[in-house]
Amino acid sequence: MSFIIIAIDGPSGVGKSTIARKLAAELSCVYVDTGAMFRCLALSWGKQGCPESDLSLKKLGEQTRIYFEASKTFCDEVDVTDEIRSEDISSLASKISLFPSIREVMKKKQRALVKEECEAGNYKGAVLEGRDIGTVVFPSADHKFYIDASPEIRAERRYLQLREQNVNTNFQEILSALLERDHQDKNRSLAPLRAAEDAIIVDTGNMNIDEVMQHLLESVDRTKIYA
Ligand code: C5P
Repeated sequence: MSFIIIAIDGPSGVGKSTIARKLAAELSCVYVDTGAMFRCLALSWGKQGCPESDLSLKKLGEQTRIYFEASKTFCDEVDVTDEIRSEDISSLASKISLFPSIREVMKKKQRALVKEECEAGNYKGAVLEGRDIGTVVFPSADHKFYIDASPEIRAERRYLQLREQNVNTNFQEILSALLERDHQDKNRSLAPLRAAEDAIIVDTGNMNIDEVMQHLLESVDRTKIYA
């Protein structure tokens, strides 16, 4: 039986997680949040004082145990689901993801995780979301999507989300942090954020979540999954 790989890439705050999680549930696939994996490393890195030597980074990448269980993210056996969502960790994750040794370790970890799931046989495939899934980690993925929306729309969505949670926030600050992360993700020399040549580009600016889901599901070859 085939194990389908679906890559979902795109910039920060575009709603990739919601989309990828829903798509995975709909298709009986495992959901892999690669951004959360970088965030876990960033958390450990910050606690160590952000050492930049190749050796320390390689050791950090190899020794940090990251896994997902029942929608929770664990880093070295600790539930860090909420802790890794802070603005500080967002910024550190973007920084640590620039180092070649970290990218290499993460690529291996992500491939190994998918291989394990494939061998365990509990799912029909994997939906991975990130920045370089369709271009670097799984260049021969069965389906590739690049989810996009303007920075202003993404910042507005984040602003409203935070206000709903009664978090005191400022639209301009959110927008400038988002633009900075976009710049860093798109301009790094290794595995920069970009759409794979064969990716389907979905601009969610004028779409609600149901419309996005419908669009993605129409593009997925379900015959491969249920073969
Ligand atoms: O997706 P999320 O915002 O949680 O990712 C946090 C950071 O991790 C991103 O800003 C990006 O720099 C990095 N990342 C990456 N490659 C991935 C996933 C995330 O470089 N596949």
